[in-house]
Amino acid sequence: MAMGFGLFDDDRDERRTLGIREKQILYRNAKKRCQNPACGRRIDFDEMQVGHRTAWSKGGRTTLKNSVCLCYRCNKLQGKDSWAVFLRKQGVKDEKAELKNSLESLSLQQLKALAKKHNIKVKGRTEEYLFGSERKPPTKKQYISRLKGVVTEKEVKSMPKKAKSVKKKRKKRSSGFWDDFLGF
Ligand SMILES: [Zn+2]
Repeated sequence: MAMGFGLFDDDRDERRTLGIREKQILYRNAKKRCQNPACGRRIDFDEMQVGHRTAWSKGGRTTLKNSVCLCYRCNKLQGKDSWAVFLRKQGVKDEKAELKNSLESLSLQQLKALAKKHNIKVKGRTEEYLFGSERKPPTKKQYISRLKGVVTEKEVKSMPKKAKSVKKKRKKRSSGFWDDFLGF
């Protein structure tokens, strides 16, 4: 094989199972129960099956973060499904995914309001040009990634649909809007 081509293959963690220490942490974090919310069966450490949130065959890595503590039955049941798909099949809501969807359905204005409410300052990227740099306003994506760990589904759902009246009032001074927001 040509030298150098193996570089990218090596990027992937080749382990397919966790080490004993990680297994113990996983088991403890799962409070000794199967992490399928539709099951939740109490299991012994020896019984624990380590499932992948993202399947190994789909590039999921063998890390604690990508692992779930499962009973034998649920591990079999999950098969090659990702954790999200598996939960959907079980009729369990994937709350993280739902929250992200809800956040994505909000407007930039609404996301901004939510961030303000939680005292979260989202900074835009700084674009570097040949002659200086420019601060870009934060994008929806940046707001969402900051908000998803903070807000609740209920809170997002209770956002007023569209703040039209507010928008109209602010329209005239929209030029300085981001500058004000970023504190320039
Ligand atoms: Zn189970």
